[in-house]
Amino acid sequence: MNQVSAVGGQRQVQFDPRDATSQGCENCGCFHFKPAVRLGVISALNPKNPVGNDVLIKSEVYMCMKCGLEYGSLVKKEKVGKC
Ligand SMILES: [Zn+2]
Repeated sequence: MNQVSAVGGQRQVQFDPRDATSQGCENCGCFHFKPAVRLGVISALNPKNPVGNDVLIKSEVYMCMKCGLEYGSLVKKEKVGKC
């Protein structure tokens, strides 16, 4: 019965990088990325912000080393455009 609580939790799975499909930049096809942090601010005026101060939100992103495009950014824009 204890196994049920483990569902959705973090499980340690060992992946072999050779099993992975290479993900290239959507713009130039480059396979190398550098980590970066995208910053956002939730304004104190935002009703969803209970703190009363501006809150800095950090999200980890990957930038193409060749053209500088953020990985995944083109895909998101396409989805927004279709809606
Ligand atoms: Zn690129």
